[in-house]
Amino acid sequence: MAHSGTRKRLREEEFVALRCNFQLDSGSQCGCVIQEGWALSCSHIFCAKHAQEWFSKSDCCPVCKNNTTNAQMTQVGRPPDESRLQLLGMLLTRPPTDIQLAASTAINFWEHQKFEEFRRDVTREQEFAVRLKRFISSSRKELTEVETLKNAKKAGTEELRRQLREAEHRLKQDRDEVATLESRIQQLSESYRQELSRATGVQTPFRARMR
Ligand SMILES: [Zn+2]
Ligand SMILES: [Zn+2]
Repeated sequence: MAHSGTRKRLREEEFVALRCNFQLDSGSQCGCVIQEGWALSCSHIFCAKHAQEWFSKSDCCPVCKNNTTNAQMTQVGRPPDESRLQLLGMLLTRPPTDIQLAASTAINFWEHQKFEEFRRDVTREQEFAVRLKRFISSSRKELTEVETLKNAKKAGTEELRRQLREAEHRLKQDRDEVATLESRIQQLSESYRQELSRATGVQTPFRARMR
């Protein structure tokens, strides 16, 4: 129970956490959970490492390119418990309008970040769906090609078989013809022999040998 309670708390922390908006060379976002960093009035936030890297060279927000000055940048961090109490102490001394302004600004910032996160997730999912669809359709195309090839091969085999059958048929016809010719020659040679023996009175063992 204690373990699943810890997991639930971690999930909640994970959900409420703000992540660095810095775009890496790979095109994806840094996305590291902000422990310490800088929040801009354009509602973008960067981890300490990327803020230092970027703002040492530029005055523009690396995401929306809005010109920003140090006055519009706020150093942020996850307050340890004692500084939470400090914050409470600070708010306790403030008029309600200040408290409301601070709270609504912070909530708007958080909402903007979460909305962007959600939008990115949706875009990623859509891109994934598109890739998946493309993959499925190309797989289908490949399958069709394989099927066509298989059919062609089958058709090729059929054609070969047909040609073989035809060749066999022709061979048989040729053989029959040869056999007919042979028997005809036999008949002719036989009658020739008979004619000859009749004419000469001599038995001639003549025999046509033909293949
Ligand atoms: Zn970062
Ligand atoms: Zn920005």
